[in-house]
Amino acid sequence: MDKVETIKRLPKLEQHVHIVGSTKPETLMGIIEDSGAKTKFNSIDDIKQFFQYKDFPHFISVYSTVNDCIIDEKYFERITYEMLESDAASNVKHVEAIFSPNDHVRRDLDYGKMLDAVNKGIKRAKRKFGITCTIRVDLVRNYGPETAMKELDWIKKKDDNIVAVDIGGSEDGFPPEPYEKVYKKAKDRGLHLVAHAGEASGPESVWGAVKTLGVERIGHGTTAVKDPALLKEIRERGISIETCPVSNLRTGAIKALNEHPIRSFIKQGIKVSVNSDDPSMFNTDMNNEYLQLNNQLGFSVDELMRISLDSIETSFLPAKKKAEMRKEFLKEYREIVSRKA
Ligand SMILES: [Zn+2]
Repeated sequence: MDKVETIKRLPKLEQHVHIVGSTKPETLMGIIEDSGAKTKFNSIDDIKQFFQYKDFPHFISVYSTVNDCIIDEKYFERITYEMLESDAASNVKHVEAIFSPNDHVRRDLDYGKMLDAVNKGIKRAKRKFGITCTIRVDLVRNYGPETAMKELDWIKKKDDNIVAVDIGGSEDGFPPEPYEKVYKKAKDRGLHLVAHAGEASGPESVWGAVKTLGVERIGHGTTAVKDPALLKEIRERGISIETCPVSNLRTGAIKALNEHPIRSFIKQGIKVSVNSDDPSMFNTDMNNEYLQLNNQLGFSVDELMRISLDSIETSFLPAKKKAEMRKEFLKEYREIVSRKA
């Protein structure tokens, strides 16, 4: 088996993927035709053309236009199913998917109906591919802490399959500190804590997520590399970083993949996962992420497998499930490596 095939067959776990960002251009076109949503897209090529970004704020505006096209809760079943179908094709066994309900509630969709549709897609994918998936709710920092508190109440009423909260959205202008009480409440409710930080802003945003919000994992964390004291703090607190290399390249957070700081994180003793973030909008998938690390940053097959195992350890799966999955991953790895020889 050649190296590319070996890397594709490695068992994987994805910790950072947005459901809406997984909407394939073909699916989006189908949704627009089915729903009659008014948009500027006339073809799949129009959509593909649109999925190119000048910078991070431009990406956020494109993302918002995609949200405008989803005018019925039912479409989340198909979008979620297809996200998991694509992950399964990269031999991903478990996914912790990000869903931002208020992006859609403010467009008059119903929180409970959306959650049901997402979970239907998850169940269908499990039956078909054996892949499992839980949900983390992105409170989206742009809506402010009062709205985030309200969203915690939605979660309290209906929390089917939700394991964590997050703040995504625009880091610039929306620092983490005002979310202190929201995170405290989420923690008291037994939810795991993550924040997007250090993607579109400097290390100060990561400091806020670490010190004020008490996060267990950081989404992206790219700019943390500029601050050695911060890296030390992250390591000492046992926080892990969900890296999204191709996403960082596409939004301009890094200039080239070989400039991605993932190796510096690992050298500092910080555990990392590798993730596709918004795979359809960034034209990537989990196989591509692993292959790019091999191509552009010289990660060996063994090093990539280490990332897969660390991703299990830092996942929000229960301890028993983690131990089972670790065994399963190592068994597959031994089979792959013995076939390679
Ligand atoms: Zn993200």
